[in-house]
This record gives sequence, C-alpha cells and structure tokens, in this order.
Amino acid sequence: MRRYPLVIWLALFAVAGIALAVKLNILSTDNSLKPYFGKNVQIEGLITGDVVSKGRLNSFDLSIRSINGHRAAAFIKVYAETSNFNLGDYVLLEGVLKAPLFENVSSPQAAIFSQKRISRFGGNSFWLAIGKARRWVKKSLLEKGNQGRAFLYAMLTGQTDALLPETKDDLRASGLAHLWSVSGLHTGFVALLVLLLLRLAGFRAGWQLVFIILSLFLFSAFTGFEPPVIRASIMASWLSAAYLLGRKKSMLSALAASAILSLAINPLALFDPSFQLSYAAVGSLLIFTDKIAAFIEGVPKQLNMLLSASLAAQILTMPLLAFYFGEVPLFAAPANMLVIPMAMVTFYLTILALIAKAAGLSVFLTVPTLLSAYMLKVAAFFNSFSVSTISVSPLLISLLLIAIAAGIIFLYKKERTLNFSYLLIAILLVIAIQQWWPVADNVIAGRRLKVEFLDVGQGDATLITGPQNERILIDGGPEPYKVQQDLRERKIKSLDLVAPSHADADHIGGLPEVVRNFEVKAVLDNGFKKSSFMYRDFLNTVRRKKIRYILARRGQRITVGTLKFAVLSPPTGFIKDTDADDNNNSVVLKLNYQKRSFLFTGDLGFAGEESLMETSTSIKADVLKVAHHGSARGSSPEFLQAVQPQIATISAGAGNQYGHPKPALLSRLKAIHAKIYRTDLTSDITVTVDKQGLQVYD
Ligand SMILES: [Zn+2]
Repeated sequence: MRRYPLVIWLALFAVAGIALAVKLNILSTDNSLKPYFGKNVQIEGLITGDVVSKGRLNSFDLSIRSINGHRAAAFIKVYAETSNFNLGDYVLLEGVLKAPLFENVSSPQAAIFSQKRISRFGGNSFWLAIGKARRWVKKSLLEKGNQGRAFLYAMLTGQTDALLPETKDDLRASGLAHLWSVSGLHTGFVALLVLLLLRLAGFRAGWQLVFIILSLFLFSAFTGFEPPVIRASIMASWLSAAYLLGRKKSMLSALAASAILSLAINPLALFDPSFQLSYAAVGSLLIFTDKIAAFIEGVPKQLNMLLSASLAAQILTMPLLAFYFGEVPLFAAPANMLVIPMAMVTFYLTILALIAKAAGLSVFLTVPTLLSAYMLKVAAFFNSFSVSTISVSPLLISLLLIAIAAGIIFLYKKERTLNFSYLLIAILLVIAIQQWWPVADNVIAGRRLKVEFLDVGQGDATLITGPQNERILIDGGPEPYKVQQDLRERKIKSLDLVAPSHADADHIGGLPEVVRNFEVKAVLDNGFKKSSFMYRDFLNTVRRKKIRYILARRGQRITVGTLKFAVLSPPTGFIKDTDADDNNNSVVLKLNYQKRSFLFTGDLGFAGEESLMETSTSIKADVLKVAHHGSARGSSPEFLQAVQPQIATISAGAGNQYGHPKPALLSRLKAIHAKIYRTDLTSDITVTVDKQGLQVYD
C-alpha cells in the first residue's frame, strides 16, 4: 500500500471524474434553459460580475433566480445598452433568450440575452460590498495609458480588459499568461502570506489553517467566485492542510483529493483547459522539483530552488499548451525564473499599498508599478526573439508525451539505465517523417486546387489551397482553437486572404485570433456594420497590424496568385428590410479553376439569392457550399436550379440544436440530383481539382 498511493489517487481521480461527468449528462442540468431559447422571457436575477463596457454595449454575468415566474438556477451573459447597474444588484429583464454559440465547459448554462427592458429592484448586501471593493481597487490602480498599472490590476483581480492585446501577446508567448489569470499562483501567494504572518504572530498550526481557508474564501469572493479561483482555493486549502499537519509526503494525495472535491462541484471541469493546466502545473511541481534539485546539487541553494521549480512546472503543462494552443513557449522556464519572485513581491506590495490607502495614508504604488513594468519588459524581451514559441503538430505532441513518459520512468527507476540511443532514433525518425510528409504529398499530388470544408462544429470555415500554395480562408468557425489547430496541422504560417462571409459569430468567431497569430496579407469583408465584440476585435486587429482591407462589392475580381475570385454579393447598396439583413448581405464568392467552379454563399437567405439571380454573371457551379448550414430559409428550388451543383457541401455541427440541415432543404437538393456531403456526418470534406478532374474526399 505504501508504494502505490499516487497511482491509487490518480485512478480514483479519473474514475470519479468520468463517473460524475456521465451522471451529469444523464441529469443534463445545462438544458434547463433550452425550452426558452429564441423566446421572449422575463427574468429575475442577481448581477454576479463586473459590468464591462465596450463602446455603447455593456455586458455582465447574471445568476438567474426565476424565469417567467418559475424558479430557475442558471447563469447567463447579458448584453445591455445601459450601464446604470452594479455587481450585487437584483434586476428584472425582458427580452429574447439566445442559445450559447458554443458550450463553455466551466459555465455550461451560459446564454446570451438581448434585452428589451431592464430595471433594478434591490440588492444583495454581500455582493454589493464586494462590488464596491472591486470598483475602489479599480479606481485606485488603473491609470490611463499605464500598462504597468493595468498589469497590477489584472494580477489582483483577474480582470484583463485594461491590458493591451500586445501586452497579452508578450505574456502569452513568454509563458507568463498564468500571471494575469487569477488562479493557482495567486491563491498560493495569499496562502503563503497568511501563513508567514500567523507564524510571526505565533499561532498554532490549527489556527493557521483556519485563517488560511478564511482568507482564501474572501479572496475568491473578491474575484467574484470565478470557478478557476474556487478550484485553486480548494487546492491551496488541501495543500496547506497537508503541510501544516506535518504530512509533506502526502501533498500529492492532498492535490488529488482537492481535484475530486472540485469535480464533485462541477464534473465538467475535467474537460476545462484551465482545470487541466492548473493541476498539471502544481502536480508537476510536487513530482519533479525535488528530483531536479537533486540533479543540479552544485548550484547555490536559493537559485537551485528557483531553477528546479521553474523547470518542473513546465514538464506536465507543456504538452497541454501544445495540445490546446498548438504552440509551446520556448523561454517559459527562464522567464518564470526571473518573474515569479518579482510577481510575489509585487502582489504583496500592491496589497500593502491598497491597505495604506484605505487607512488614509498616501499610496506607495511607485515600487509595485516599477516592478510591474519590469515584468512586462521581461515578457517583451523573451517575445522579441523571432521563435519564442514553436508551433507543434500532433506528431510532435505524441513525441513529447513519449518523452515525458520516459522521463517519469527514468526518475522513478532505481537503476537508471534507460537506453538513450533508442530514444534518439525515435526522435529523429519522427522529425524526419514530419518534415518530409508535406514535400512528398506535394510531389505525388502535382498541381492542383484543394478546397477543404473544415468541421468547426456549428459554423463555417473553408480553406482553399491553390496550385502555388495560395491560401485563402473563408470564415473561421465559432471559436479560435479549432481553426488555428487546423491551420497549424497544415503547417500554414501565412494566409493570402481572409474573407469572412459576414459578422455572425459562427463565421467570425475564430478570425480575430487567426489575424492576430498568422501573417495575413489581405482581408475581404462586407463592411456590414454589426456591433459585436468579435467583429470589432477583428477589425481593430486588422487595423493595428496594417493588413490590407478590401471592401467586398458585387462586380469585383480578386486575384490571389493563380486563383481568380469573382465577388457576386453584397450589392453596392446593401439589401435591406429582410428577415436577416446580415445573412442576406453575406460575401458570395465564385472561384473557377480548370473548367470547374465553386460557389461560396455564406449564410445567404431567399432575399440574397433573388438579388444574386439578377446579376449578369453566371451563378452555375459544380460545387455549392450550401448557405446557412442547410437552413430551409435559403437555397430555394429556383436558386438551386440556377446553380445546378453536382456537389453540395453542408457545414453544420453534429447534433446542433437548430436541426441543421433541415429535411426540406435536403429534399430540395435531392430533387436537383446533387450529391450531398455534410461536415456533421463525416467531419472535414476535401474537394480537389487537378488533371484527373474533380474529386471529393470525406
Ligand atoms: Zn452561420
């Protein structure tokens, strides 16, 4: 028994997580709002987050108490035009409840609410006090144009809206992103501070633990009981308990126990990247720090501790970062070594300065502001190397996993006789295959056009690769991970053209990050104004990176290398007063290649199709990307008759709640004898055109 406690805990952890997740699926609590989606409802609830203003639009999290008079418990995000509300207010709203665009595992019940009427009818004193404290901290810390202060504020509260995108890029690329998301690190700081103070005051271990748990609770309350902070607090409490009760050997078991407790609260957290990352980081520290420290014995003690901890933390987090973000920060270990001690001091000095200010003393924020600016300099320095992150393909991820497994075996084995030449051969083999695969693929395939309809769930993303490696991306799906992963898997670093069909989130959601992280040469956009955060984020990034912006209008020809696109829609004056103007003004592109043609229609509806049929250009095409995920409110029989596609591709999410593609639409396609391919059934669909003609791979 003494030899296997870790294995037993890990197994229990996995079994408990899976069992609870299954149980939750059966109970299906996240469906409680489903009957109300798309309907006009009255909601009563408590504002549990900061009211965030972006331009004219404000948003906040609302904890629902009742819906249409029925008791309910769920979280939604509210977008409102008035900002006269605060954290802790009870509000009554009326409007249309919208389904969430994509499920967020940490708050599965989230749904967007477009509000018609909103009024305050009271407040919750506990939450109002927290809201007041948060606003006071915000006012005390933030200063216009000062990123050092913005970073202090982010470190203390987890609120990142004052940080510039460039600052975030620097922090992310240098492996310091954990500094701005209040989680494991910061709860550790809090626990350590309380521990040291109580030690100095001579309190007994039991009391130390009580105060640590109490202060962690207050800290989580201050951050608005964000799920990651609650999890980190539970973790820090268990670890403190193991430490204070003299069970340093059981720290890993304490970590596993805290994971089980967190999963009991929300089993779905198991699939949350932030959950996995924080447990991987702390687990990694507990498992590897001592072993690395023993390995580099000669180094002076303080430096040894810092070095071994910084290296240890990377071991289990690296593969996760590679998996979720497709890249690994190369200089994470040195950046963390330089910054973490500084971050701890800064965190404490900021709290001290705020206490001093509350007591009426003048603020001593100069030192923490300087330290904060220094940390940002370090991040910018490590990001200034051209290869501060390396993009990772799935192959490399599996290699990393093999290496880590080998490393763990090596560290745990008594007789250290791992044969390194075998490992070296394996590594070289994988790298060789990886480098030569695309080359071989190109040679065998010859010159051809490749159009890939990517499975991005409920949304659109089409990647076009020309015979000279011209790259065009039409739409980016609802969220950033999937489309970026798809691009990185194909070793794509730059795109010649990014063309959102329109600004709906299921098309543009992934694009701000694509424009941010890839070299994009030009953007083609309909310019149909839509006040969504994502669309504005997209446009701002395009502007900031000085990317060529082309306003799409009927009659244009867009040439990308050897490929020529005709812009068929929107017309010069936008189509107005239809059931969905944003859809009907979708950018519609036609591509001809070697006597074959493609028609990309965005989310065009009946009105847009009618306008399209009036143009002089032929809309006949061999391959039709069916509009609007196979909705029945587009693709009229007349339109399909005019296009006469042999192949119709439909991009829809498997089991999507809209019932796309609609049976009525499918029978219309069958009536014109088009062969139907669907991403919801077969994932990615690839269509190629070369000397042999047109081929479809699904
Ligand atoms: Zn759509």
